[in-house]
Amino acid sequence: MSCENEVAVIGMGPAGVSAAIYLKRYGMEPICFEKGMVGGKTNFTDRIENYPGFVGEKGSVLSSNLASQLKDFGIEPVYKSVKELSLNEDGSFLLKYGKVERNFRYVVIANGLTDKPLHLEGEESFRRRGISSCAICDGPLYKGKDVAVVGGGNSAFQEANYLATICSRIYLVSHHRNLKAQEKNINTFNSFENTELLVPYEPVACTGTKSIESLVLEHNETHERKEIRISGLFVYIGNMPVLDYLKIEGLTNERGYITTNPSTMETKIKKLYAIGDCRDTPLRQVTTAVSDGSLAATSIHADYMDSVK
Ligand SMILES: Cc1cc2nc3c(=O)[nH]c(=O)nc-3n(C[C@H](O)[C@H](O)[C@H](O)COP(=O)(O)OP(=O)(O)OC[C@H]3O[C@@H](n4cnc5c(N)ncnc54)[C@H](O)[C@@H]3O)c2cc1C
Repeated sequence: MSCENEVAVIGMGPAGVSAAIYLKRYGMEPICFEKGMVGGKTNFTDRIENYPGFVGEKGSVLSSNLASQLKDFGIEPVYKSVKELSLNEDGSFLLKYGKVERNFRYVVIANGLTDKPLHLEGEESFRRRGISSCAICDGPLYKGKDVAVVGGGNSAFQEANYLATICSRIYLVSHHRNLKAQEKNINTFNSFENTELLVPYEPVACTGTKSIESLVLEHNETHERKEIRISGLFVYIGNMPVLDYLKIEGLTNERGYITTNPSTMETKIKKLYAIGDCRDTPLRQVTTAVSDGSLAATSIHADYMDSVK
């Protein structure tokens, strides 16, 4: 039996691209789905400094490398959002995208994470009118203006450090005094003259007319409120898996991440795999995502070879 078109890979971030390349090298023909841009989150990252062999480059360089590598391997992604994934009675999977329904023998879930909303009074009305979660995409719009970044982890500090090179003043707001970011990122932030750390503050409301003009903050201990004037608000308070399309029960842990066998990336359902940021893993980085992809592909190939013996 030919294995052509039997594997679907959902999401073409670093994890999905890695799985696709390894599958192709094993002689399989993965059908790859991407609802946005190949490279996933790396498209929205300023610099990636901890991916071995990729020195001092922008995230966008990594994403365009991933896209051209896919092309070199003859893989043309289907640029559609997968709307439904369900299990057929015979153990195969039904995938729905656009108006198409198609069965696959193996499926690899690699759809990453979605940014958490801030749940701020007025937040919805300022989406795309001053509130963003992508400094790389939207930062230049605020050149010479004052902006705030909300969050206390590495993403918040890395993006604030990028904004410090283009914006006039950058406030970094975190509700914890104990910041989660690495010391290096915090030190870089503190080395700029136009940055200010506001801790422990909780953002409670944003105001403005046509676009955001100010952010109201409440001190976590004294409950005193203050208002800062800003033109842009960048939110990095974490992310969460969004798996609404997955119509198979019992795959996730209590936090919504897909649990897998860490050696094979297989989920509780046979021939269904999860890789990268969407799975239950202690580290969510490019290194771990590409490693997951290669392990899943290797496991799928081994399973396929067993079945044709
Ligand atoms: C601001 C920021 C800075 C970071 N800095 C670093 C760093 O310096 N070093 C590092 O190693 N890591 C960094 N990371 C983390 C790194 O980007 C992620 O760990 C990595 O991208 C995860 O890869 P992934 O393939 O699992 O998911 P993603 O990169 O999120 O890719 C998932 C893909 O799936 C697609 N998708 C989602 N749903 C569907 C659907 N239903 N149908 C079809 N396609 C779908 C998405 O469009 C996306 O392209 C950073 C992340 C952020 C946000």
